[in-house]
Amino acid sequence: MTVHLVGAGPGDAGLMTARALELIARADVILYDRLIPDGALDGARADALLLDVGKVGGGTQVPQEATNALLLEHGRAGHEVVRLKGGDPFVFGRGGEEAQLLVAAGIDVTVVPGVTAGVAAPAYAGIPVTQRGMAAAVAFVTGHEDPGKEETQVDWPALAAFPGTLVFYMGVRKLDRIAEQLVLGGRSASEPVAVVQRGTFADQRTVSGTLADIADRAVEAGVRAPAITVVGAVAGLHQELAWFARGPLAGRSVVVTRARAQVSALAARLRGLGAHVVEAPAIRIEPLDAALPSDLASYDLLCVTSPNGARRLLELARDARALAGPAIAAIGPGTADALRAAGIEPDVVPQRAVAESLVEALADLPLKRVLIARAEQAREVLPEALRARGAAVEILPLYRTVAEPLAAPARDAASAADYVTFTSASAVRFYIEAAGAPAARQRVVSIGPITSDALRAHGLVPHVEAIQHTPDGLVAALLADVSARRRC
Ligand code: SAH
Repeated sequence: MTVHLVGAGPGDAGLMTARALELIARADVILYDRLIPDGALDGARADALLLDVGKVGGGTQVPQEATNALLLEHGRAGHEVVRLKGGDPFVFGRGGEEAQLLVAAGIDVTVVPGVTAGVAAPAYAGIPVTQRGMAAAVAFVTGHEDPGKEETQVDWPALAAFPGTLVFYMGVRKLDRIAEQLVLGGRSASEPVAVVQRGTFADQRTVSGTLADIADRAVEAGVRAPAITVVGAVAGLHQELAWFARGPLAGRSVVVTRARAQVSALAARLRGLGAHVVEAPAIRIEPLDAALPSDLASYDLLCVTSPNGARRLLELARDARALAGPAIAAIGPGTADALRAAGIEPDVVPQRAVAESLVEALADLPLKRVLIARAEQAREVLPEALRARGAAVEILPLYRTVAEPLAAPARDAASAADYVTFTSASAVRFYIEAAGAPAARQRVVSIGPITSDALRAHGLVPHVEAIQHTPDGLVAALLADVSARRRC
């Protein structure tokens, strides 16, 4: 029985350590804080127990005692437990206290250091926390305390006299008091200061100033937690060394409504462009028990109509050779890629990823017997058209999509977002059931005409429809909309 105290780094998922990813992939139980990189848990086992012990709904923190109790419970149960914390677990992360508690209870503990925000956020803002000739030392300080209060753990005069860079965690709301105490202690009012909000996230931003004016500037800019404040000459290097480019979607929030298993790739793409992504997986894919016909080789054609269908089909086949015989048609590039992942090159992929185009693309094939592998409920365009051509068509239902309730924080975040994206007609229905219809001010983005029809059927107008009916096409359409609206 081991509890691993693991640092997840400051926000950019690329800054997670190899060790952290390995332990996440192995864990039976993961207790995580809110301030971990987006997608940090993507590699967790499907059957792992994921427990959010961060702030609930952006408000109250799960009490430390409750987290401790969970750590002891799962540690004692002999589970492989990961306690995942933002940044480094031993830097203002209460990791030390949790380690003491576990050790006292006779539970083995390992520690995986993480990239701490106090170094990483400045680095991403082009600020080295030490620099020859400028800063020979750096101090990490909690800004959580009110510097005005009598009993303070922080020795402000000593800190003001510290010969080097001061890095404050948790202090954005007390910037005025911090600056005041430092100047009182003898620091120059013109000393450079930089505040880095959401450092290393795609929407990172930096506000610069001096001890004299940083508090006002931060208020003006509406800076909020999480932010790191750097005080010292090195803060002035931000102007010279800032390197981290804001993506074209910086400052935009985008809801992704796909099934959880599929959210990640689209979400990662959007995050890479700087968007703040709200994951609202209102649908879940439920695999159905099904068997491939034993005489599959005698069919002329096997149609696969979605990436989910392709994956389930491959699961059932177990070996790609079990699908040998019929020609294979994929409805679009996503489905084709899912087949290619198993080494199967589809014979037919229509230009546009809709059933009507697949029917056209199949026009020249002589078809007597066809198997359509698809969702339990789907449009009947394809089977009807092939039957009309005289083919014997059988349907092989492979999975169904079911509603997935959304937690209140996800619903709130979704209703506040700028864009809501839909990648299927079923996502439209289930999202509206779970979160309500998008508000009038939200831009609705549809992956293609069928999804747009579903939106219209719910009384909604898609503002943007992808030209290529793929997740990449959807991202391209969204980008075009953002830049068109920026121009006007
Ligand atoms: N253990 C964490 C710190 C936890 S305390 C670490 O080593 O980084 C929480 C504080 O960390 C926040 O109030 C903020 O000051 C800072 N912080 C965490 N992530 C941050 C980020 N991405 N950008 C700026 N500050 C961050």
